Amino acid sequence: MARIPDGFIDDLLARTDIVEVIGARVPLKRQGKEYSARCPFHDERSPSFWVSPTKQFYHCFGCGAHGTAISFLMNYDRLEFLDAVDELAKRVGVEVPRDTRARNENSDTQDLIHALEAAQRFFLRQYSTSGKAQGYLDNRGVSIDIRDRFGIGYAPDGFNGLRDALGTDERRLKLLDRAGLLSKNDSGRVYDKFRDRVMFPIHDRRGRVIAFGGRVLDKDDGPKYLNSPETPLFHKGRELYGLWQVRQTHNKIPRLIVVEGYMDVIALFQHGVDTAVATLGTATTPDHAELLFRNAADVYFCFDGDRAGRGAAWKAVESVLPRMKDGRQAFFLFLPEGEDPDTLVRQEGADGFDRRLQEAMPLSQFLFDSLAADVNLHTLEGKGRLAERAKPLLTQIPDGAFADLMQQRLTELTGVGARAASPQTHVPAQRASAAQRPAATPKRSLVRSAIALLLQKPALAAALEPPYGFARLNQPGVDLLVEIVDVVQQRPEISTGALLEHFAEHAQIGALQKLASQSLPGNEEHLQREFLDAIEQLQKQTVVQRLDELQAQQRDGGLGDAEKRELLALLQMRAGLQRAQ
Ligand SMILES: [Zn+2]
Repeated sequence: MARIPDGFIDDLLARTDIVEVIGARVPLKRQGKEYSARCPFHDERSPSFWVSPTKQFYHCFGCGAHGTAISFLMNYDRLEFLDAVDELAKRVGVEVPRDTRARNENSDTQDLIHALEAAQRFFLRQYSTSGKAQGYLDNRGVSIDIRDRFGIGYAPDGFNGLRDALGTDERRLKLLDRAGLLSKNDSGRVYDKFRDRVMFPIHDRRGRVIAFGGRVLDKDDGPKYLNSPETPLFHKGRELYGLWQVRQTHNKIPRLIVVEGYMDVIALFQHGVDTAVATLGTATTPDHAELLFRNAADVYFCFDGDRAGRGAAWKAVESVLPRMKDGRQAFFLFLPEGEDPDTLVRQEGADGFDRRLQEAMPLSQFLFDSLAADVNLHTLEGKGRLAERAKPLLTQIPDGAFADLMQQRLTELTGVGARAASPQTHVPAQRASAAQRPAATPKRSLVRSAIALLLQKPALAAALEPPYGFARLNQPGVDLLVEIVDVVQQRPEISTGALLEHFAEHAQIGALQKLASQSLPGNEEHLQREFLDAIEQLQKQTVVQRLDELQAQQRDGGLGDAEKRELLALLQMRAGLQRAQ
């Protein structure tokens, strides 16, 4: 995706009144400096959703939803990033830097879209006169309404139907080719890619046809399903078949069900299960996972119960783990042998399918069951192996209650992690599980305080000058603190919301969001004093740390001249610090 310059985003967010943007969609009530509402992202009776005009971001204490005006539009209006930026830019009357809009405005893209539209019309016309294709859908019990909704068409038998109808000149032929509708044989002859197939158009988020899937009518005629190749418009790892129809059907999608085939989606819709989407002949990619969770908090993956199905499910686990923010849930439904969602929903109806979903395996169970499948948990060796396998996976889960609970479960299963209660471990504070924390409110570390203050008032970082002495301190979170200070120094106008946006992909984003949503007491002056205090303490700790290092090295007899001078300077500095206290 084209990158939009950070400065543009900061500026856009600074000019945007987040209260106005959200207030136009959700009734807000003023409460002191902030605004509250009943959360639009989860069901609740009393308001726990807050919008802060000074921080330029929103936060829900109930479900953890949070973000800037951009993320609000992405989540509430279900816009993609670029479209949300466009929308805000339109509101405040600024122009989005041109290169970032390439994909939207490129005339090439428009031509491709038009070629695909023409092809879609062609397939629909062919369908209306094909008894064979109509008979196939009749047999499968697909109603006229569903055929219309999904725009199901037919590609005629023979090699030149589409080519002759639409490829009337060289330019058009080229377009059809680039749209993935033609094939070429070794002797250079160009012919229709889809022949004698029922055609399923694949729509993008705006309902435009960007590709096709075709299903054979005669069993022995090529692969059962054939998809368009990757084109400038179609990347199968990023698209989900049926998502557009699901969005058309629901204002708020209660859950998404991920299946493997077009006919699964259609049969489910036909029987009243109207929240199913299909991956297009690929495993679940990280892009898919992102798209799924952006549209629904609960995602159910349906797979065959066989080995291949379990393998595919594991791929899905790997893609969703880094996206398991609090409030999101993933489930796995393994189908009985020889069945697929299509056959099941025909036999059992929507209610039967729903019962199966209710019994689906939660992600946590599938993960630990899979990891422990060939491990003897009655032995220490087995427990060790499970812990070793689980760790790299669990660290991918964003900070939050779910991450804590998964860590806790691992501890229950293996005992590993329980001893981490000692304060000197190198587990970052944000990662320490709920079980490891003392029952009382955890005392916030200095680093964490400094980060919290900075998030509250990014401009505080202006008072610091690089190089930062505390950057060498060996404590969890120091790197992040330095990173934040750097960003604010480069972008002094940055708001809390924009700062969070900058760190959206950071492993600690969950913790950052939590810190940012707290309301710290005190006025600006007070916050500034507290921040500079924390930084000073950190500098002192760095001096002590370096002293310890040098003295240890000295005991081992290995100090060079420069290091001796440094040691002396540090000792003097420490004496000075002590006098000052
Ligand atoms: Zn909420």
